[in-house]
Amino acid sequence: MAAMSVKLYDTLSRSVQTLAPASGDTLRFYCCGPTVYGPAHIGNFRTFLIQDTLRRVLEVDGTPVKHVRNITDLDDKTIRRSEEEGVSLQAFTARWTDKFHKDCAALNMRQPSVEPSAVAHIPEQISLIEKLIEKGHAYAVEDGSVYFRVTSFDDYGRLSRLKQRDLKTQMENSAGAVNDADEYDRESVSDFALWKARKPEDGNNYWSSPWGEGRPGWHLECSAMVDSAFGGETIDLHGGGIDLCFPHHENEIAQSECAHGHDFCKHWFHSAHLMVEGEKMSKSLGNLFTLDDLREKGFSPMTVRYTLISGSYRQQLNFTFDGLHAAQSALSRIERFAETLLAKTEESPDSFNTTYVRADAPEDFGRLSKAWDALRNNLNTAACLGAIFGVIGSNPAATLDAAGARGLLRALGALLYALGLELFTVEATPVDAPAEIVALAQTRWDAKKAKDFSQADALRDELLSKGWVVKDGKDGFDLEPKT
Ligand code: AMP
Ligand code: ZN
Repeated sequence: MAAMSVKLYDTLSRSVQTLAPASGDTLRFYCCGPTVYGPAHIGNFRTFLIQDTLRRVLEVDGTPVKHVRNITDLDDKTIRRSEEEGVSLQAFTARWTDKFHKDCAALNMRQPSVEPSAVAHIPEQISLIEKLIEKGHAYAVEDGSVYFRVTSFDDYGRLSRLKQRDLKTQMENSAGAVNDADEYDRESVSDFALWKARKPEDGNNYWSSPWGEGRPGWHLECSAMVDSAFGGETIDLHGGGIDLCFPHHENEIAQSECAHGHDFCKHWFHSAHLMVEGEKMSKSLGNLFTLDDLREKGFSPMTVRYTLISGSYRQQLNFTFDGLHAAQSALSRIERFAETLLAKTEESPDSFNTTYVRADAPEDFGRLSKAWDALRNNLNTAACLGAIFGVIGSNPAATLDAAGARGLLRALGALLYALGLELFTVEATPVDAPAEIVALAQTRWDAKKAKDFSQADALRDELLSKGWVVKDGKDGFDLEPKT
């Protein structure tokens, strides 16, 4: 299988480009990660799952990927919430980072190659600021804050295609932190903070710097973490939700290019936002669902994954409960299809994941070529799934011999690896356990899979105390009422 055949829409050039490492064999892929101040919602996971799927597609295509996704553990929200709870920032963010990892594992997301955190990169952020001041791209103000001088970088606005004259209006219109009323010392309203002088509401969360006590501005962390993970080289691909394109990614480019004098990143990968039942997600509408919310309603993480990756990433996806039910039956249709092929090869469903779901592509995708082409060509997950169902509908098992069935299973397995969809893992619950018991048992199963045995044991005891015995199988669990 020829490598380097994956194409993706690049926000920078506004065109579809072939993804290939600028140097060496490995594609350098950075993604802005979660802000760990609570559980990630399904909108966040839509973006992270799309990125995970692209990485898997590249792997199947034969391109090794260094995937770096950071943890944002230092910003206004993490500080405010930890202060409200009266716990240290570190303990607070560790708890939500752990929850994020558990959700990622349940959603069958590959772990990033490196997962740096902002707090672990304070000295690197300070040296970046020093460099920028030295080169005239940044300035310190009276209170000890430091700002980036946007007019010093001619290319500012290149990614979002905003002209200097539009920037001022953009900044004035954007809500919240960007236009901080306290920051009256700035030379221009579009200049953004690289270092924020210590404020009483920061509590103990401040660091010493040449400009006094304070903390880095949010945009800076990614520039510093990209440098440390990729040794200061130009990266190949940078991802995030579309909301990050401006100002966050624009600011990353400005900081890194002004500090280093070379291109920051070749291609930009932005995914459109998730809507819920036709509306924007928001706390006030009560539609900020988490993975646990959906589990409590009886949906498996695999069903959630299917739903969140089923629409093409450049289009807004409208998440609905009807869609979740449709995903459930789509997954079982694929399972039944695999079963008919496995019957031909006289293998059991248990062996499907280990034998066929692999990152190495078959010589030939055969009848499933269209599905693979859809993934390689701008990550068209919707067309890929459509093509898989086209093949299922043609009932190929009726005419295939064992060798033909094996070939089709190989192709299906590679596609499912790329999509991150696992079959035959949805827990069987023969007795009607209530949804909250199933959800608890699922959390325990995930804890066990993540090797968090003390939590798994505690949850087993909790289930027992509620009258349910959990029995583990190879690929899932059963629940039985305690006798
Ligand atoms: P945050 O945890 O807020 O830093 O966001 C983590 C990621 O989720 C970023 O890439 C955001 O762009 C993305 N994101 C936030 N809301 C949504 C949404 N409704 N749909 C898709 N992606 C989102
Ligand atoms: Zn970032």
